[in-house]
Amino acid sequence: MYCETDDELVELVERARKYTEDGKVADYIPALGRAEKCDLSIALYYTDGRCFKAGDVDKLFTLQSVSKVLALALAIMDNGEEEVFRKVGMEPTGDPFNSIAKLESQVPAKPLNPMINAGALVVSNMIEGRSTHDKLGRFLTLIHDLTNNTSIDVDHEVSDSEFETAHLNRALCYYMKQHGLITGDVEDLIDLYTRQCAIKVSCLDLARIGMVLANKGRDPETNRMIIPEGIATLVKTFMVTCGMYNASGEFAIRVGIPAKSGVSGGIIGLVPPSMGIGVYGPALNEKGNSIAGVKLLEMLSQRYELSIF
Ligand code: GLN
Repeated sequence: MYCETDDELVELVERARKYTEDGKVADYIPALGRAEKCDLSIALYYTDGRCFKAGDVDKLFTLQSVSKVLALALAIMDNGEEEVFRKVGMEPTGDPFNSIAKLESQVPAKPLNPMINAGALVVSNMIEGRSTHDKLGRFLTLIHDLTNNTSIDVDHEVSDSEFETAHLNRALCYYMKQHGLITGDVEDLIDLYTRQCAIKVSCLDLARIGMVLANKGRDPETNRMIIPEGIATLVKTFMVTCGMYNASGEFAIRVGIPAKSGVSGGIIGLVPPSMGIGVYGPALNEKGNSIAGVKLLEMLSQRYELSIF
């Protein structure tokens, strides 16, 4: 049983919206602090082309950590699985996304997974390209293909704001450079990473990306394989085990779908084989996930029995 009208979604959004009051908009990246706390929206995109939306669906927001899923897919397409997982692990952590703690206790030093900042920085460092511009261009092309929306671009205000304040991410990079996990100039990598995180999308864009992943990496409208099936499976599995940071276990139990969140309040989700979900709600809970967005997905999953388990 799937949702088949906007009205059904409107009702869920209005029920979930009250939870935004208990959350807090991220402001450690100063430009994100300007988001409207009470915003909440959702879009669904099915493989047959039907879309349903509710809430503040015209609001655009930046990918932030949602970009980690797609950067991982691109880095594996560029380098192969073996090379990528030589430098980054496959295990969830019980730590916050920006934690530095586990890096020193792992021998040899290696970030636990590609969905935390340390792992994502290693992954971005593996994207092929002659320059930052080139690498970012290749990443944007992947997003244009997945969304079928070539107008998607970087929000430079957000990327500049993060670049100026990303000292913890710089610390992670220098530590990992010392251990041979990162090569090249750290400032260049922070430049790429902050721009990758600042790509601006709508929840419909996220839903379409989720739909292509649900469809094993193939765009059903063009029949083009955008992400090879094995790589799509791999990134979806990371979404289940690590996509909601150190709340991934509870999310798997309460919602039960592959999903990835970002501190802008975006969440991408998917239900194989035919449905992609995009959510936006910038008020976050203490783990850094959209507080009302998670509630909304919980209600949606219960109403339509979406859990994959
Ligand atoms: N750009 C953000 C950071 O590195 C992404 C983090 C997130 O969305 N959790 O801090």
